[in-house]
Amino acid sequence: MTSDVLTTLPVRSGHFLLESGYHADVWLSLDLLFVDPSKITPMVTGLAERLGDHEFSAVCGSLMGGAFLAQALATILGSAFYYTEPIPTAGGTALFAAQYRLPADLRGRLRGLKVAVVDDVISAGSSVRATIAALDAAGASTVVVGTLLTLGDVGATHFARLGVPFESLAHKDFLMWKPADCPLCRDGAALEDPRADGRVNMGECRSGVIAFAEARTHIPGAAGEHAVAFLKRGSLDVRLAGAPRVPPTESTPHAQDEVYVVVRGRGVLFHDGRRDRFEAGDLLFVAAGTEHRFEDYSGDLAVWVVFWGPQGGEIPR
Ligand SMILES: [Zn+2]
Repeated sequence: MTSDVLTTLPVRSGHFLLESGYHADVWLSLDLLFVDPSKITPMVTGLAERLGDHEFSAVCGSLMGGAFLAQALATILGSAFYYTEPIPTAGGTALFAAQYRLPADLRGRLRGLKVAVVDDVISAGSSVRATIAALDAAGASTVVVGTLLTLGDVGATHFARLGVPFESLAHKDFLMWKPADCPLCRDGAALEDPRADGRVNMGECRSGVIAFAEARTHIPGAAGEHAVAFLKRGSLDVRLAGAPRVPPTESTPHAQDEVYVVVRGRGVLFHDGRRDRFEAGDLLFVAAGTEHRFEDYSGDLAVWVVFWGPQGGEIPR
């Protein structure tokens, strides 16, 4: 079986923030993986054969790559296909902060089902872990995790500890570190969020301008998210959020201190039981742990969202 598709994926060196919150010194771009079905099909078939040893009636993967793979596998295996989508979470540099959900119409159909959870490539397994949690909450059980390629051992070790069988077609050595242990952080190397590719990206620059006119064209993001990250550096996390749906729409506390800069539009900030109107040009501050949400906002609302500092805020209550 050929793994040419995997070995020819573009690899970049640098200092990268993975979705899991781990840091790594290489980044594998997966955008090309599903471009040529004739190249990927032999691998999908190979994984389907491995998964065929397990008993399940549905395959589930997270958007984007995991879902593409899940659908292809479900077609071969004659099973049902489900997917999870990322929840635009606000803030936090904690490990495994990423969350995924089942679309509402799928959620009710999963109770009691045995499911194979798959992803195109698994390093720490952040999106798979979040998908398993979403399936759990919907009453389904994950009987096997499958992937075309494993990077490093963090993911496999985790699923072994969970007692979930793990099927992987290929394995590549891959170093990743928790932020506190990261040698690149220790050297002061600028941290890049590679998922911000194609958007405004500071890369290794030590200064720059993020133009609103350019940034707003990237909202909503590829997975429909209404807040997109544009700059991550140390604890700093800068996003642009835009209507029609501007998170947080549900009352929620965030783990870090937070400032909103209102670029355009108007609305109401519900915070700590109070309601205050705001409009373009205003600055909103919400300390870590404070319940808040946006209400009654205009359809053109756009806000820069700036998180910084330690979990729990710089001046805890
Ligand atoms: Zn680092």
